[in-house]
Amino acid sequence: MALEKLGKALNTALRKLARSSTVDEATIKEVVRDIQRALIQADVNVRLVLQLTKTIEKRALEEEPPAGASKKEHIIQIVYEELTKFLGTEAKPLEIKERPTILLTVGIQGSGKTTSVAKLARHLQKRGYKVGLVCSDTWRPGAYYQLKQLVEPFGIEVFGDPEEKGAVKLAREGVEYFKSKGVDVIIVDSAGRHKEEKGLIEEMKQISEAIKPHEVILVIDGTIGQQAHNQALAFKEATPIGSIIVTKLDGSAKGGGALSAVAATGAPIKFIGVGERIDDLEPFDPKRFVSRLLGMGDIEGLLQKLEELQKEQEFKEEDLEKFLKGKFNLKDMYAQLEAMQKMGPLKQVLQMIPGMGYSLPEDAVKVGEEKLKRYRIIMDSMTEEELEHPEIINYSRIKRIARGSGTSAQEVRELLHQYNQMKKMFKSMDKRKLSKMARKFNF
Ligand code: GDP
Repeated sequence: MALEKLGKALNTALRKLARSSTVDEATIKEVVRDIQRALIQADVNVRLVLQLTKTIEKRALEEEPPAGASKKEHIIQIVYEELTKFLGTEAKPLEIKERPTILLTVGIQGSGKTTSVAKLARHLQKRGYKVGLVCSDTWRPGAYYQLKQLVEPFGIEVFGDPEEKGAVKLAREGVEYFKSKGVDVIIVDSAGRHKEEKGLIEEMKQISEAIKPHEVILVIDGTIGQQAHNQALAFKEATPIGSIIVTKLDGSAKGGGALSAVAATGAPIKFIGVGERIDDLEPFDPKRFVSRLLGMGDIEGLLQKLEELQKEQEFKEEDLEKFLKGKFNLKDMYAQLEAMQKMGPLKQVLQMIPGMGYSLPEDAVKVGEEKLKRYRIIMDSMTEEELEHPEIINYSRIKRIARGSGTSAQEVRELLHQYNQMKKMFKSMDKRKLSKMARKFNF
């Protein structure tokens, strides 16, 4: 996975937040500091880090959580939103509109350009496009063979001539060749001999003139960290039709720096390279990327976990029917309390469902493990009729149950009190929302 180390550090910061008992200013500041540290360690530019974390802190301190969300959930949401903005917010997918669409790739030698061209060709081929590759790298004869070797197993053709010295000529001929073959996409790979942006940009201009690409793609090595900023900036200024692939984000300690530096220039990052294999290229979508990075899977996963717990309790449709009809007996209550004990207070569960922001009396739904055991013992001394129709339990029945279960009348009354509270609560719930919740949890 890309930026694993950074992701782990950010996830740890958020987990710490999730575990803290209260969320006050000190907690928020600590989370912000943890995030700062994580980003700086990933070589993200310090000024950018400070800007970002200041925004996170300000929002976390000033904004009220939306209805139905806890303070913690809201802060996690803020971190997620700000990091996403930091990386450009919207995905800018590569569009293949015309036939053929001509793409030109540039990048400094060693950036992972040849590999990326092969990956991109394969990516497009998998989406049903017929792709032709042109190798116009006249400086490194090996480039042609390297590219051929990478894509030949997939039946992708490479046009090139290791003997030819004119890059522009090769590019032009290659494009003509594939046009005549009727491919959907032509990718022209240029030389990567450049030591700096100037050479790179110069060649891009020359070849561009000759082949009129629809898009020029700059390949940047993600391991150079925030130094990627200058390359991306120079490139963005030189072409209005440029996009970027940031490579080697797998295992690179500085990848976060490279990604954020490129995003800061406003140049669209369209793909990221996440490994050496031909399939290790991912379309870049800041939202998806950040949510994976933060381990938001975990957080989204929380809902799923609750769902599973619910299922474990074999909460069946007929139970829901009973709730909806306001029928709710002691057995149901027990099953509910048991389920809730496993998954945390019902209040939290309900709050996670958009639009459910119920304010529930805490003690109506929360009960400790010890108490639950006592309830079990008490209920074992009740008759079937009493369990199903608790309203018949009068003073003499209470005394009998207490005696039979070796508990006190006070404890039996407590159980009945809890039952009445829960029943009231379910009755007062909006039936439509309740059934929505039921669907959400797959009852
Ligand atoms: P070029 O000189 O820019 O054409 O670079 P190459 O495509 O030859 O790549 C240089 C090295 O980087 C090769 O060993 C590639 O396997 C490796 N490489 C390219 N992209 C990635 C990537 O996303 N992740 C990893 N780990 N290695 C990559």
